[in-house]
Amino acid sequence: MIDALEIQVTRTAKSKLQDLNLEGIPFGKYFTDHMLVAEYADGEWKTVEIKPYQPLELDPSTSVLHYGQAIFEGIKAYKGDDGAPFIFRPYDNFKRFNKSAARMNMPEVPEEIFIEGMRQLIELEADWIPAIKEHSMYIRPFMISTDPMLGVRPAETYKFIIILSPGGPYYAQPMKIAVEEKFTRAAPGGVGFSKNAGNYGGSMIAATEAKKQGYDQVLWTDAFEHKWLQEVGMMNVFFVIDGVAVTPSLEEGTILEGVTRATVVTLLKEAGHKVEERRISIDELIEAHKAGKVSEIFGTGTAAVIAPIRELKYKDYVMSFDVDAMKVAPEVKATLTAIREGKQEDKHNWLFKI
Ligand SMILES: *Cc1c(COP(=O)(O)O)cnc(C)c1O
Repeated sequence: MIDALEIQVTRTAKSKLQDLNLEGIPFGKYFTDHMLVAEYADGEWKTVEIKPYQPLELDPSTSVLHYGQAIFEGIKAYKGDDGAPFIFRPYDNFKRFNKSAARMNMPEVPEEIFIEGMRQLIELEADWIPAIKEHSMYIRPFMISTDPMLGVRPAETYKFIIILSPGGPYYAQPMKIAVEEKFTRAAPGGVGFSKNAGNYGGSMIAATEAKKQGYDQVLWTDAFEHKWLQEVGMMNVFFVIDGVAVTPSLEEGTILEGVTRATVVTLLKEAGHKVEERRISIDELIEAHKAGKVSEIFGTGTAAVIAPIRELKYKDYVMSFDVDAMKVAPEVKATLTAIREGKQEDKHNWLFKI
């Protein structure tokens, strides 16, 4: 086992930061000066380096390119009013990352590399975190298998990498979502709960077809009946029905266990709302909507944080929502923002100071 203090740091000769205007910078397009790379072989993590951001050199036979042992995370760092950087709930992402690793038959990444490596990288790149409202630094840890060999088996070598991308607000517009009836994202026993690359590759066709109909994304349903509601793109989903916030439960392993979802559940309960994590079908939702009981639907995820849904379509039935009249989503967003901005007490220790 390597020692956390042995992270080798090679600095870039010249920063790219002065060439960039961080205000309103598009999501995921620009990357900071450095990256972290850790190498796994012979059953252990061998090296951890922070070095200038650069392309990877991979043999064309590299296993990840063929068999998809690839997992990732999405985390955000911010600057407080005092300019001090912090990361939001990185330990939750760390735990989830290793759950994904276990499911994909990949080695776990130790805390000394994932958390301490991320901390050191963010510290080095702190000037890149935009000190602008609604802006942040997106952190993308990921792991790929790297055996140069075409046999189908769990690889013996891996790379764990962290890259950083400063970004402005993500989804500016309230979303239009279509309920998916044909394609399946995840089934029990599958990999739906893991943040593995194949889940996204397999999802794109559904979003593409929804876009042709004028929708931004799909709301996934279960594999057997296409009736039980799951989640949207890279977001979990909440329905406010008769004043109760209902979100699909996780126990079937078909839904990503969102950190933002957990945050929102906690904040809603603390604000005195009733929250139910349970199975919910499209039939129940439509019935409640017909009775005038559905007041809001919103998505939650690190990238978009809280995204109101202005329209949800199932077959010919269209539910429209007045986003400006929503109460629960903006309230929980305001609370979360206040905690992040240090205006409200961080009693759960969600802010990890660098
Ligand atoms: C990342 C992701 C989410 C949201 O998780 P957060 O931890 O809140 O960012 C939800 N669904 C899917 C499929 C995801 O990939």
